[in-house]
Amino acid sequence: MIAGHFGLAAGVKSGAPSAPLWALMLATQWLDAFFVPLFLLGIETIEPVDPANPAAYGGSVIHAVYTHSLVGALLLSVLAGLLAWSRWGNRVGGVIAAVAFSHWILDLVVHRPDLPILPGNAGGLPLLGLGLWRFPTASAIVELILVLGGAYLYHRRATRLPPAPGQDGREHRRRVVTASAVVTGLMLLSLVTSVLGI
Ligand SMILES: [Zn+2]
Repeated sequence: MIAGHFGLAAGVKSGAPSAPLWALMLATQWLDAFFVPLFLLGIETIEPVDPANPAAYGGSVIHAVYTHSLVGALLLSVLAGLLAWSRWGNRVGGVIAAVAFSHWILDLVVHRPDLPILPGNAGGLPLLGLGLWRFPTASAIVELILVLGGAYLYHRRATRLPPAPGQDGREHRRRVVTASAVVTGLMLLSLVTSVLGI
């Protein structure tokens, strides 16, 4: 799930306009931003469910035992919130922390049980994950709803903004439509590429 996370960020933007869209987008992928270097180092790994089809949409067990452990995700979300707070204050700090943690909640829905509670799966506690990825069509529909819902909220808010000083109404509308189309197009592209496994 990548597109769904971005959809959520676009939707949150409409309710927290002071948070920059780039920061919201980064916050939704914050846990994965830490996963990638650990993956490259071989500390966190991805195991295909069907080795013959390793790029299948949702067809992986992901051993992100530090970044996607419940406690690890909470700590990383607090870190994201503190960084945002130091720049943009209390409200944006809280929003960014919540959006960063939303990544874990959405992953909880789709992942097969592979999310530990403690970093490194210390103590061997039960692994979490509701496993919606077992049903790729249902997962893709949930992601599509997040993308379209987020795009709709983003666009609706953008159309209600007053034009910048010196900007006429038509120019303003053109910019709003362009921005919404770019945001929506990128989200749909990331959904299509992940469903197709490319
Ligand atoms: Zn993730």
